[in-house]
Amino acid sequence: MSALDALPSVRASVEALGLRAHKSLGQHFLYDLNLTQKIVRAAGAGKGDLVIEVGPGPGGLTRALLHSGAHVIAVERDPRFAPLLQQLTEASGGALQVRQEDALQLDLGALARPGEPLKIVSNLPYNVGTALLVNWLTQTPRVWFSMTLMFQREVAERVVAQAGDQAYGRLAVLRSAVADAHLLFGVPASAFTPPPKVDSAVVHLVPKADGACFDDLEALQTVTRAAFGQRRKMLRASLKACAKAAGMDVVTWLESAGIDPAARPQTVPPEGFFALARAWRTAQSRR
Ligand code: SAM
Repeated sequence: MSALDALPSVRASVEALGLRAHKSLGQHFLYDLNLTQKIVRAAGAGKGDLVIEVGPGPGGLTRALLHSGAHVIAVERDPRFAPLLQQLTEASGGALQVRQEDALQLDLGALARPGEPLKIVSNLPYNVGTALLVNWLTQTPRVWFSMTLMFQREVAERVVAQAGDQAYGRLAVLRSAVADAHLLFGVPASAFTPPPKVDSAVVHLVPKADGACFDDLEALQTVTRAAFGQRRKMLRASLKACAKAAGMDVVTWLESAGIDPAARPQTVPPEGFFALARAWRTAQSRR
C-alpha cells in the first residue's frame, strides 16, 4: 500500500477538519474516485508530465493525478486547505508541490520545466474559470501541452462552439485562434459536494501548430468585442466605429475579408474574424 493509499478518504479529512465550502471561491468538491480517475485519464496525464492543477481544495483530483505518476504543482488560494495539502505533499514522495496563491496571477512560463510536457488539469472555480482560460490562451510564450478543464456546462459549450451555434461568441473565436477543443463528457451537479446549481462538463484543449495559430490576439479581441457586443446587429453597423477609428470604410473592410456586411457575428467563422483583425491592424498601424 502506498503512502497515498494510507491517507483517510478526502471526505473524511474534510469532515474531520470541519471545513465548509466557500461559495465566493467557487468551492464544489469531487469525492468520487471513478470521476477523478476519469478526468486524469482524459487528460492523458502520467509519468514524465508536469501537471498544473488550479484549486486542489482538499485534494481529491490531486490524489488521482499523483496516482498517475505525474509531477503536480497545485495552486490553491484558500489557506484552510494547507494542512490537508501538506499531508498529501508528504505522502507524494516529492511529486507534489503546493503554492498558496491566486491562479489569476500565475506565470505559466516560470513553472514550465524542459522535457516535461505541461498539462493543465483542473476542476475550475466557476467564478474565475473563464478569466483563467483567457489568461492561458493569451499568455506567450505558449508553454502548455494540453488543458483538461471542468467548467459549468454553459461555459464549456461557449469554449467549443462553432459558427452558427447558439453558444458561439468571443470566447470560441479567441480559443479557435490558438487551440482545438472538444467537450469530453458532462458531469451532473449531484457529483459535487456541495452540488452547484448547474451541471458541468469537461473540455480538452490542445494548442494548434505554430503556423496554424492566429497570433494578434489583441486586434482579434478589439474586433470581436465590437462585433459580439451588439450580437443582433449587422456587422456593418456594429463594426462601424471600429472601422472609423482605424481609418477604414466598414463595408470595404468587411467585403475585402470575404464577409457579407449584412451578416450577424454568430454566423462568421473564426477565420473571418482573423481576416478582419489582420486588416484592422494593418490600417491602424498606418495611422
Ligand atoms: N479540485 C478540488 C476538487 O475537484 O474537489 C476543488 C475544486 S473547487 C471547484 C475550486 C477550487 O479552486 C477551490 O478549492 C477554491 O478554493 C480554489 N480557487 C478559487 N479561486 C482560486 C484562485 N483565484 N486561485 C487559486 N485557487 C482558487
